[in-house]
Parts: sequence; structure tokens; C-alpha cells
Amino acid sequence: MVIEEKAGKPYNFPLSRFVSKTRFEKIKKFSENVQTPFLLVDLNIIKKNYQSLTKNMPLAKVYYAVKSNPMEEVILLLRDLGSNFDVATVYELDQLLKLGISPDRISFGNTIKKSRDIAYFYNNGVRLFATDSEEDVRKIGVNAPGSKVFFRILTEGTGADWPLSRKFGTHPDAILGHISLAQEMGLEPYGLSFHVGSQQRDIGEWDAAIAHCTYIFNAAAEIGIKLKMINLGGGFPAKYIQPTPKLEIYTKEIMRFLSEDFGDDIPEIIVEPGRSLVADSGVIVSEVITTAYKSKYSPSKWVYTDIGMFGGLIETMDESIKFPIYSEKEGDAIDVILAGPTCDSMDILYEDYKYQLPDTLTEGDKLYFITTGAYTQSYSSVGFNGFPPLKAFVLK
Ligand SMILES: *Cc1c(COP(=O)(O)O)cnc(C)c1O
Repeated sequence: MVIEEKAGKPYNFPLSRFVSKTRFEKIKKFSENVQTPFLLVDLNIIKKNYQSLTKNMPLAKVYYAVKSNPMEEVILLLRDLGSNFDVATVYELDQLLKLGISPDRISFGNTIKKSRDIAYFYNNGVRLFATDSEEDVRKIGVNAPGSKVFFRILTEGTGADWPLSRKFGTHPDAILGHISLAQEMGLEPYGLSFHVGSQQRDIGEWDAAIAHCTYIFNAAAEIGIKLKMINLGGGFPAKYIQPTPKLEIYTKEIMRFLSEDFGDDIPEIIVEPGRSLVADSGVIVSEVITTAYKSKYSPSKWVYTDIGMFGGLIETMDESIKFPIYSEKEGDAIDVILAGPTCDSMDILYEDYKYQLPDTLTEGDKLYFITTGAYTQSYSSVGFNGFPPLKAFVLK
């Protein structure tokens, strides 16, 4: 009797769903002469994403969330496309000013800020500030007199792959107090903001948040304050493994929510995309270091690569963001556990979610981490285990 070897299916990955053939050829060519790991960003994709957002939401003013990818080439591209910028620190502000971006295109969107940093923004000409606490309203009132402020509403972040809940925002029942305090301090209470959580796959979350805005707009009007703006935040999707509706569906639905709540009197609209503009533009090229079965009958093979959590893939924490991962090797598809190169045992990328890779993988084989243009290089550690921060290049 012949016992059949466990005949797996051949490894097969839908690369064309994520990366065009010509782009992949360029990435491969570039990779011939550069040591892995590194991030390769295709500016054309960012341009396309920006244009598609502004086409689908012509009412909205775009404030790019700089933290998602602060590469100079990316900032310059968005500057020339006419984007505005949402920044969180004096360091990001300095970078933008140096690149010739005028302060009237910049908002200070961080609700956690030192008085002296508020003054620095103000002295450099920035007049638009986010806030979510009484103390912060007072600090803005003193250090940025007369500026426009928008008030961030607390949201739950349910349905988002990378929630931003709890830390930011004010419950709607306390926000009116901040709005009238701002008015008393001589600031201009300008509008409301929220962030439904990053990579938000449930469009209905905007509906709930916009409904809160309507309620607060009305309540403010009753005390004689006319708010003028809603900042819809980020949260728009990038192409990871788990599918999302298309951007056009998000924008269409959001516009419908706004019309339902505000009729013909839709306020000024701001969006603050980060991920949805830049994530699809990036591919991290990495290399397999070692593979191993840890026991005789272990169902999964460990694959250790030269990019890990500390090299820029921190969003794999709790396996939150599931990056598409591609190998060119042929072989049978097997379940793998993917881990990074550092001596920290937390540096495991995916274990519960079963990635499949070819059984033939071995040292030196390249692995392509797709959709890694957002929140990777800017998150990579400085010299943990001596590994340098992630290198990043623009694909020519
Ligand atoms: C990070 C951040 C964004 C960007 O969110 P994405 O989900 O990446 O689009 C927008 N606004 C604020 C206030 C942020 O902190």
C-alpha cells in the first residue's frame, strides 16, 4: 500500500489584484542592487489616489495626515497637487515650512499639545487648531489668539482594523461647554471633527458620527454659535487582504449621510486621509533569513524575514493590518508563521491568521510586503538590535 505524501495545492497568489505587472517588473529591477529590507514608493499611485478622492468628493478640502508617510517626495507631490496638510508636531511643521508650504494650508490636528508648541504654530502663521479638552481650549486661547478651532468628537472605532478610539475626542455631552469656552476666550469655534478609526471597513460609522455633528450644530446654534465645518477625518481604505468597498462607495454614502442630515445647507467639509492616499503606493522588499519546523509534526513552518515589527511593520500588532505578501517561488502552498529578525519574541507578524507561502522558500528568497506605503517607515525603530531604520526610495 502506498501512503500518499501530503500533496498540497500549488502556491498561487493574486498579485495582479494589488500590483500591476509593469510596476512589479520595475520593483524587481530596482531590487537587484539594493540590500533588503527597504520600502519602494510609487508616486503615480499616490497621485491617482489623490485625484480620485478629490473627484469623488469635490466638496471636501483635503488635509493629508503627514504622519502616515512623511517622505519628502510624497509631501512635495501633494503640495503640487494642491493638498493641505494635517500635522501633529513642531517637527512636522518645520518640515513642511521648509518645503515651501504656506501656513494657511496647515492645521495643527493633534489634540495633545504643549503651550509653547501652540505658540510656535501661531507665530509661524497657522490659524487652524483641533481640540478636545477644556485645558487645551484655554491653552489655544492664550497662545493662538483669535484662531479657528474645531472640536473633536469621541468615537468608538468599531469596525476599524486600526482603531483610534478613547484616547482622542470629547463626548458630545461635554463638547458644548468647550465650544462656548472657546467663544469666551476670543477664539472662533469653527467646526467639529472625528476619526472613525483607520482602515474603517464599516461605512455606517460615518453615519453615526455625522448624526452627532448635526445634533451639536443645532445645540450650538441655540446658544448663538454658528459652526461652519465638519472634518470627516481619515479611515478611508487601502488594499489589504481583507476586502473593503471601493472609495467611490465611501464617498457616495458619506455625501448621502450629509445630505440627509443637513439638506441643502451642508457645511464646509474637510477630510484628513493618510492611509488611503499612500498605503497602496508602497512595497517593502525583504528577504527570508531562515525557515524552520519546530517539531516533527508541527502543522506550520516558521519563516523568519529581515523585516519585522520593529523594522516598520508594527501595524501587524494583534495581526490588525493584514498586508498581502508575495513570493515568486514555485512550490506547494503551506501554512506559515511569519516572524521578524529581532531578538524580541513579540516580533511575530502573523501566527493566528494563516498565511500561505511556497514550501520551497529558503534563505535569500525575496518576500514582497504589499500595500506598505503608510505607517511603516515612520514607525520603524532607531537601532533596536542595531538594525537601522527602514530605508525608503521612490520608484522611478
Ligand atoms: C492619523 C490621523 C489621520 C489619518 O487617518 P487614516 O486612517 O490613515 O486616513 C487623520 N486625522 C487624524 C487626526 C489622525 O490622527
